[in-house]
Amino acid sequence: MDERFAAFRSRACEMDRWDPLKSFRELFHIPPGTVYMDGNSLGLPPKAAGDALAKTFGEWRDLAIGGWLEGTPPWFHLAEEAGRRMAPLMGASPDEVVMSGSTTVNLHALVSTFYQPSGIRTKIVADELNFPSDIYALAGQVRLKGLDPKEHLVLVRSRDGRTIDEDDIISAFDDRTALALLPGVLYRSGQLLDMERLVKEAHKRDILIGFDCAHSAGALPHRLSDWDADFAFWCSYKYLNGGPGSPAFLYINRRHFGREPGLAGWFGFDKSRQFDMDLEFSHARSAGGWQIGTPPVLSASPLLPSLDIFSRAGMERLRHKSLALTGFLAEILEGTLSSAPYGYSVGTPGEEHRRGGHLAVEHPEAWRICQALKKRKIIPDFRPPRVIRLAPVPLYSSFGDVLAVAEALKEIVDGREYEDFSPVRDAVS
Ligand SMILES: *Cc1c(COP(=O)(O)O)cnc(C)c1O
Repeated sequence: MDERFAAFRSRACEMDRWDPLKSFRELFHIPPGTVYMDGNSLGLPPKAAGDALAKTFGEWRDLAIGGWLEGTPPWFHLAEEAGRRMAPLMGASPDEVVMSGSTTVNLHALVSTFYQPSGIRTKIVADELNFPSDIYALAGQVRLKGLDPKEHLVLVRSRDGRTIDEDDIISAFDDRTALALLPGVLYRSGQLLDMERLVKEAHKRDILIGFDCAHSAGALPHRLSDWDADFAFWCSYKYLNGGPGSPAFLYINRRHFGREPGLAGWFGFDKSRQFDMDLEFSHARSAGGWQIGTPPVLSASPLLPSLDIFSRAGMERLRHKSLALTGFLAEILEGTLSSAPYGYSVGTPGEEHRRGGHLAVEHPEAWRICQALKKRKIIPDFRPPRVIRLAPVPLYSSFGDVLAVAEALKEIVDGREYEDFSPVRDAVS
């Protein structure tokens, strides 16, 4: 075993030496002495984020109301500007993406726009492994139309409790389906769905389809426009490193710019006439039309330098390194730590085209192992009942970090370190 780890160690050194992205690590604040594996829940701050916040504060202090037109960028156009910088990462045109709201609010804004049950087409197809907030919001949208979610919200079942088979989703599409809403990457197992295929199959049956990309945005390249997705939304505090509570994004396929926004508000008004204060709503013919109210200027400021880092690193190169990192971790776990006494298994699909940015490592003692990892200053997160999520983020994680995690997982079982911790869970995990 020690020899095998020695071999892994020398491979990690080699891969780090030749990593074309290694200099990006210097651009981030990494909590001292820690190995951070939770960038899929809350990305680390770029060093430029503090300056960006200070700059926005300075504009507020020095320009006051003038910042709406004189800030850099002008606050009045900030949401569109952030959308322009975000769009290339998602394979969208600049006017198809805008910064707005939160993930869940954007789901409401978009589903209320695109879910128009009529005749026998009344159902929404989603999946039972999606993030609970999405399911709560979808059920709320169905109720707002006067329908019963028990009948009209169809949740595709998982066969193994981890993944959703695209064939099962497609079989759920029928002439009673009005809309489909699915995740790009499943938040627990890290399965990447074949979004292109799902769009094609939905459109064949005249079904509108949108994606929650909270766990795929910033983790892998998207081609939303080429795939012809109808809409999408995602947050910016996970892989995109925008900071806690940073604003989210939404994508509207330009084919739909003429649709009436479901949750209309004055920031969606055609910008050139917004301050005419006309009582007749006329939305911008761009994704900007789906904004609701004033953008959170301070909370958005760290996001712009982070998006600039992504554009320099390049989403394709990041994906390449991400797959190498998660592949290396899966290889070590499956090769050395799967049998007794270790008993770790990987719940994320092994094929690269089905894998998102994190690995779901399963163990019956997952919760207590997470506590033992944290005591060693390795930061994972836990998802019940038995998943240790580990996200080596290509902008700031190294192959050496991945090896350190694997060694810790081994030693925690060797020394039964997890037995020092209580099985009772904290409120935030
Ligand atoms: C993180 C996440 C959310 C969070 O929603 P907020 O409105 O940003 O709190 C929602 N859905 C999915 C799939 C997520 O991964």
